[in-house]
Parts: sequence; structure tokens; C-alpha cells
Amino acid sequence: MSAREEAARTLLELDAEVAACRACPRLVAWRDEVSRVKVARFAGDDYWGRPIPGFGDPDARILVLGLAPAAHGGNRTGRVFTGDRSGDVLFAALHRAGLARIATSTAADDGQALTGCRVTAAVRCAPPMNKPTPTERDRCAPFLVREAAALHDLRVVVALGAFAWDASLRTLAALGWSTRPRPRFGHGAEARMGPLTLLGCYHPSQQNTFTGRLTPAMVDTVLERAVALAAWDDAERPATARAAGVEGRRG
Ligand code: SF4
Repeated sequence: MSAREEAARTLLELDAEVAACRACPRLVAWRDEVSRVKVARFAGDDYWGRPIPGFGDPDARILVLGLAPAAHGGNRTGRVFTGDRSGDVLFAALHRAGLARIATSTAADDGQALTGCRVTAAVRCAPPMNKPTPTERDRCAPFLVREAAALHDLRVVVALGAFAWDASLRTLAALGWSTRPRPRFGHGAEARMGPLTLLGCYHPSQQNTFTGRLTPAMVDTVLERAVALAAWDDAERPATARAAGVEGRRG
């Protein structure tokens, strides 16, 4: 079995496990209620109302990480960053970067596909007020560790917001990489851990995009950097990264 086939099989099994999870009583109740009550503009939709698996290429060198699905976005459509304004901004940028087939992400059957990239969330169920508790965060964290470990050629993690940055550091630490001294989140922040590079990007929430704190050009700059890092041939990568890739990774 090729590395791609192995990754695809592992991710498929993981996705099924994620979608069936009911481990957090508060989030299960919330996602069920949101899916039943709905909002007027989506009153005719059948909501997914379950945890959201990651989406993208088993050969992904770039993993884009968000906080959690939106109540009427991913929780409605069943695909991460799909059917909401944050997803509009993110997928348009992924398309400009050459990572997404089309510039929109509106429904699970819209024909969207990612190449060299996977998008996922640190917490898989929509939380009230977009705020999971620390217990919920920690309970969901092993899914992300397993997802990152399954990506056999992962090189770059793009963390959308401080919550995702923190989750990325916890994940990389769980995979055996030193995350000390702890790098600080910021837009454009960059930290290297072994063969992996963590990039920070403000979250494409309306709170950031409507206020101009985050512009499409700013997202483009981070994704261009991610693509450049991911494109390095092994011979071009820093010697420390190559050595760590061979000797240091335990995940
Ligand atoms: S947040 Fe994660 S651990 Fe909690 S119910 Fe959803 S999928 Fe399961």
C-alpha cells in the first residue's frame, strides 16, 4: 500500500469516528438544538448536526486549522468552513493560492476539492458563542493529533487565530516536537519545529474581515509563504529539519 493509500484509509476511518462522536454532552445538546431550531435563512435546509471531519488531500503538505465549525456553517453543511462567511474568505484565498479547485465552498457536494492541503478544526462540534470549554478542547484534541500524524508528508500548519495556534502547539508537542520556547501567536508569525513550520494567520471571522483587521491580501501572504515552504524539496530544506525528520519524529 502506498503512503497516499495508507493516509487516505487512516483519514477515512478517523473521519467516520469523528462524525459519530458524542463525548461532550454540552456540545451534543447545542449542535442538536441549532440543527432543530435553525435560522430563518436556512429554514429549509437539513442540518448535518454532527461533528465535522477534516477535508482535503491525504497527501497534504499544508494543514489549515480553525477553531470549530460554525453553528450555521459547518454544522449545517457537514464540511469544515463551508456555508459561512469565514469559509468564503478562506476558500477564495485557497483558490488564489492554487490549493482549492474552486473559489467558493457552499455545500458538501459543490465540487470543491483541495490539492496539497487539508482544512480542519481543533474542536469538531459547533460550540455556543464559538467558545469550547478547556475540557471540551482537551477531549477533542486526540482527533487532531491523529489527523496530523496520518498526513505522511505534512510540512506546514497554518493556524487561524490564537486558539488554533495553541492547539497546533499542543498537537506538535504530542507528536514529539519541542515547542519550547513557546512561540507567540501573531499574524504572519512563523515557528519551525523539526521539519514542520507553524504559521499564524488571523482568523477569517467577520469580526476580523468586516473591520479590516484581516484583508484578503493578508491571507494571501500567509498562504503564499505556506506554499513556498511546502514546495521545498528535501535537499533544499534546512539541515536541522532534514535531521529532525529522520531522527526526531515520534508521531
Ligand atoms: S467536540 Fe470533539 S470530543 Fe466533543 S463531542 Fe464533538 S467530536 Fe466529540
